[in-house]
Order: sequence, then structure tokens, then C-alpha cells
Amino acid sequence: DAAIQAAVSTAHRDQAGEHGGKNASYIPYLASVDPALFGVSVVTADGRVFEAGDARFEFALESISKVFSMAVAMGDVGLQEFHDKVGADPTGEPFNSVISVVLHGDTPVSPLVNAGAMSTVSLITADGPEQRWERILAAQGAFAGRRITLSDAVNDSEQSTNFHNRAIAWLLYSGGTMYSDPMEACDVYTRQCSTLVTTVDLATMGATIAARGTNPVTREQVISNPALVPPMLAEMTMEGLYTASGDWAYRVGLPGKSGVGGGVLAIMPGVLAIAAFSPPLDPAGNSVRGLKAVAQIADALNLNLYNAQ
Ligand code: GLU
Repeated sequence: DAAIQAAVSTAHRDQAGEHGGKNASYIPYLASVDPALFGVSVVTADGRVFEAGDARFEFALESISKVFSMAVAMGDVGLQEFHDKVGADPTGEPFNSVISVVLHGDTPVSPLVNAGAMSTVSLITADGPEQRWERILAAQGAFAGRRITLSDAVNDSEQSTNFHNRAIAWLLYSGGTMYSDPMEACDVYTRQCSTLVTTVDLATMGATIAARGTNPVTREQVISNPALVPPMLAEMTMEGLYTASGDWAYRVGLPGKSGVGGGVLAIMPGVLAIAAFSPPLDPAGNSVRGLKAVAQIADALNLNLYNAQ
């Protein structure tokens, strides 16, 4: 435990002096978050919690939500149907790319870009959008081990500037890869991005994946079938850090997911999850301090999926 806490504290101290990057500006709320905020946390697959800095500050989950909705949809429709309908390949394009959708005949390609995430939402079994939303929110809470809530401030801010995502949703609908009303799916997707988590929540959510779907703190089995976990990790490797996913796999070798709210999550299956939060982003959309802190902790603890002992 001392080695993990030392790695977390040292990475936080070392990377606090990193001042690169800029808050996301296309969502007004995100532009207004204090860029100095910086939290780091590790939660192990057996439920030990470590933290440093602003690890209890609540920030917008954003794109990281895609991973948890993917688990719900895969559980509902099964691995094969999910793969057939949403795909699993890296797009090589930014997260909100219209180009990759159009190039692939108005289909989404990957569940971890906006197109695939909206298609994923539309696959979740429910009597309409409100129930679909309640299931997603409940899943986020089960992964985190506490009730997660929507930020009206974030959601209003996103919904009022959401034209690009709405356009993607209509393209998918025209391609036959939207399985509910497209504007409802876009609305629910935007809500799932607008929930608030702390860095400790995020590390717990990751540790639940690291522990094959059972939350190691609450002991709740959150993912119905452990066989869903490897494809989630595979997808995180290929598409989790936007267009920097390949660089990250080469350099760090841990499946990860980031969000434009400044959150970053990385997972060593069976061992632990590392989460970090700091708002300033690099041009790909990843938290600058977050990536550096997570990489430093992974190095200090000798964690690399492709070098597993
Ligand atoms: N809600 C954001 C959007 O769709 C999330 C983007 C992200 O974190 O990558 O624009």
C-alpha cells in the first residue's frame, strides 16, 4: 500500500507544475472550470483506495460515460449483435467526426466515439428515453458505488450547443444504425456525458472493470457477464484516448478512456485502475496533467498490459 500511495502522491506533486493545455471551449460550462484543479486516485481490484490533490472534486464525466453505457448495451443485446451494429474499429478521426461516419456509409464504426456512443444508447432496452436514461444513470452509480447525479448546468450548456451531435445522430438514422428516435438518443447521450464524478469515483468505476465487473468496494456485480469485459478493454485500447490512442498504447500500454471534462482513466486488468482529473486539454482532447500523472503512476508500479508478468 505504501508503494501505491507514494506513486500517487509523487505523480501529483510532479505534474502539478505542468501548465500545458487549455480547457475545452466548445461547451461553455467546461471553459469555466478552474484549470488549476488536479486530482489523482488509484483503486485496486480488491478495493483499496488511494488519492492525492483534488480527488474529491466533482467534474463532468463526458466521453468516459461511453464505456459504461457500452457495458449496459452489450449486456442487453449480446456481444455479437453489439459488434455487428456498432463496430469495434478505431476511426483515426476526432471523437465527434462526421467524416468517419460518412466514409462508412452512415455507420458508427466504434462505440467510443460520439457516433457509436449514440448508437449504443439507442440499443439499450427500455420503454422510452426516460427509462433508458435511468438505466444509464443507475449503471454509472453501480460502477462508482454511490449515487451519481446529473449536473443541470453541464447538461443545459451542452444541449444548447449540441448541433454537431444532432447532425451525426440524423446521419446514423439515415444509415439505419440508430435503433431509437435519433433526437432522443442524442439527448440521452448528452445527459450521460453531463453527470458529475470525482477522481475517486472514476478510479472505482475503473476498478470494477479491472475486477471483471464486480465493484470491489461495494461487492455488487455490476457487469452481468464477465465475458463483456475484454471487449470493453480492447475498445478502450483502440479508441479510448481519441487520436492519441495508438501513442498511448505504445508508450504506456494500459487501456484508457478520457473525456473533455479533464478526466482520464486507465486500467490494468485484474490489478487496479488509475484515474486523474485536470481540465486543461491537449489538441487531441486529453487532459495534459492527467495523462502525465497516469503514465507516471503506471511506470512507478511497473504496469503495462503488454508486459504483464
Ligand atoms: N458531450 C461531449 C460531446 O459529445 C463529450 C465529448 C468528449 O468528452 O469527448 O461533445
